[in-house]
Amino acid sequence: MTTAFHQVMAQCPVCLNEEELTIWDVIDTSTDPDLKEKLLRKTLQSLECRNCGHSTLIAAPLVYRDPKQHILIESRPDLGPDDLLVRLQDLQAAGPTLWPTPAETAPFRRLVASVNDLIEKILVHEQGLDDRALELVKFVVIKHQAQDTPIEELRLVGVAKSELNFVMKLEDGWFQYQLVVDAYHNAQMILEQTTDTLNHDPAAFALIDSTYAERMIDRFTAAMSDPIGQ
Ligand SMILES: [Zn+2]
Repeated sequence: MTTAFHQVMAQCPVCLNEEELTIWDVIDTSTDPDLKEKLLRKTLQSLECRNCGHSTLIAAPLVYRDPKQHILIESRPDLGPDDLLVRLQDLQAAGPTLWPTPAETAPFRRLVASVNDLIEKILVHEQGLDDRALELVKFVVIKHQAQDTPIEELRLVGVAKSELNFVMKLEDGWFQYQLVVDAYHNAQMILEQTTDTLNHDPAAFALIDSTYAERMIDRFTAAMSDPIGQ
């Protein structure tokens, strides 16, 4: 699987001017590290209108591949929640034929619903964090905040020694948000106590999102209130 693209005519939503646009279908970072930089800066798939100057982000399917770090992530902004689950089953059924990795390596294979999810997964993996634990942290923060000011989006942007740095989208804009790294360690602990019941195959494609986090919290809560499993 190497870098692939196709071209389409896209219309500027502001002035209706038509521009030719390159849609990236696959990015392979081993041959095209510059495309990864563009992806992280969110300039990879944007329509820059030469008529009015407006720039529009295009939501198209994209496969991100980093052979060095054994990352394979498929981003499907074109699918709704139900179709996303169907796609996940297809990917899991296809198994290693999609992208064989040596048995001794730990591949990171994810299906995500948006480019923002994709960017966050890359960051999380490269920082050596567990995206399942991070989703738990995000889920709890969003839930706690819900009665107060609902958080529309919460994104990890960096990791310091003792804290995780996020940006959060509230009704009136984006704000910075810091969380002590202990919150992440607590989430890891919850994960360790619940993973075996989920039977998660680390080499399989997974959809690790807020729904996943909610399921984990539910299982953990159930296990705590019924420690002997009756
Ligand atoms: Zn325009």
